[in-house]
Amino acid sequence: MAKENLMDKIVSLCKRRGFVFQSSEIYGGLGSCWDYGPLGIELKNNLQNFWWREMTQLHDNIVGIDAAILMHPRVWEASGHVEGFVDPLVDCRQCKTRFKAQDLIGQWRAKKKLDTLADADIPEGSEGDVAALRVIRWGDAVCPNCGTHGSLTAPRLFNLMFKTFMGPVEEAASVVYLRPETAQGIYVNYLNIMNTARLKIPFGIAQVGKAFRNEITPGNFIFRTREFEQMEMQFFVRPDDGDPWLEKWRDERFEFYIKLGIRKEKLRLHQHTPKELAHYAKAAYDIEYEFPFGWQELEGIHNRTDFDLRRHAEYSGKDLTYFVEETRERFVPHIIETSAGLNRTLLVVLLDAYAEDTQEGELRTVLRLNPKIAPIKVGVFSLVKRDGLLEVADRIAQDLRPVCSVFIDHQGSIGRRYRRMDEIGTPWGITVDYQTLEDQTVTLRDRDTLEQIRVNTVQLPQIIRERLAD
Ligand code: ATP
Repeated sequence: MAKENLMDKIVSLCKRRGFVFQSSEIYGGLGSCWDYGPLGIELKNNLQNFWWREMTQLHDNIVGIDAAILMHPRVWEASGHVEGFVDPLVDCRQCKTRFKAQDLIGQWRAKKKLDTLADADIPEGSEGDVAALRVIRWGDAVCPNCGTHGSLTAPRLFNLMFKTFMGPVEEAASVVYLRPETAQGIYVNYLNIMNTARLKIPFGIAQVGKAFRNEITPGNFIFRTREFEQMEMQFFVRPDDGDPWLEKWRDERFEFYIKLGIRKEKLRLHQHTPKELAHYAKAAYDIEYEFPFGWQELEGIHNRTDFDLRRHAEYSGKDLTYFVEETRERFVPHIIETSAGLNRTLLVVLLDAYAEDTQEGELRTVLRLNPKIAPIKVGVFSLVKRDGLLEVADRIAQDLRPVCSVFIDHQGSIGRRYRRMDEIGTPWGITVDYQTLEDQTVTLRDRDTLEQIRVNTVQLPQIIRERLAD
């Protein structure tokens, strides 16, 4: 399947079947904001719960938190976001297009327009871009959108944090930010959590929550949006243990996506070069997925050293050191961060699961989702609507509801009902027919193998429970 095509198919499937809708659609939509419909929220919750179980329940030293989105404004000064979370922007006075300066530099590099870059010795990478920003003759450059010469402005800094005001007065003193990452809510609570949960280093704190970034170039459906959700786990270690823990978490997080059912050949690790490292990181890896629009980051794993806790200690005036009773040692813990996007992972899950094949001469669309995250686990159908078959199907559905999400469908041919379930990734279909009335057996159909077996109705809850277990 053509790559561009796949993305279109996912967007259309999401809308058609109620996974994801454009926000405020009846008003023409709001740029880069999306709403999750009945199937989308089931899938997102399942994904979140899958992550949560992997990251907290299966570890004895990782606990959770849910911090507020609005935080003290000093947090963002300490974190470096007020000063550093900026993208230089360039506007075209002619066609009014707005560019990220970095993107323009990238385009010119690719075309080897060194006259615009003005200096052939500018190094590659982000450091080179910073140098380029200063030396480029912006006034002489050509706008790539409209071709006008001399219409670009010099780059201006643009902070990606959303601002709002707390309380009734809109003045500088009441500015607060919508958090651009969930991590800081963990750092500022580290002592509270450590003391109340009686944790000893090494330990981790996990959080899933909304983050907001006024991205200049959002897009690719739910890949990059201005409002999104992160799944983060911050792991606190001894200062000299950072490197081995970074590797451990890198490997464990990579394995997570395999467990989730993502094809291994579509995943890769990218180690940050010194030039790529964020200001707070000593070493970092990205887990990347091959999206239809290229390899892109899905999760970042960083060794943030003691940067965050030191900064918060400095800005808050509080002692954030860790004390080891036995050895009387005192130190600022180092932090290994694993930070994944929930919505971006949901997109990966859909892209990776999407398949088309031909069944009985008809094209079938199927989402081969891991059953654990499938929005609906079982479809229940009765062959016909008469002779008491409907009632039996309803009873089976009732018995299964405490075990998993069930959908009853009595419309159309059995083949069409199966296909509707395949398209939304429902792993199993149960069909009640005349034989059911005689021997209490039903057909249990598997979405992937298409195998159909007859099982006794009383065994169904147990069978489904077992199939959903590890
Ligand atoms: P990018 O380079 O793609 O902007 P980043 O390196 O700034 O991402 P982090 O700050 O490390 O991203 O955030 C961790 C994760 O949060 C990313 O790997 C991604 O999955 C998710 N994420 C970040 N920004 C967005 C966004 N605008 N929309 C959706 N998900 C996002």
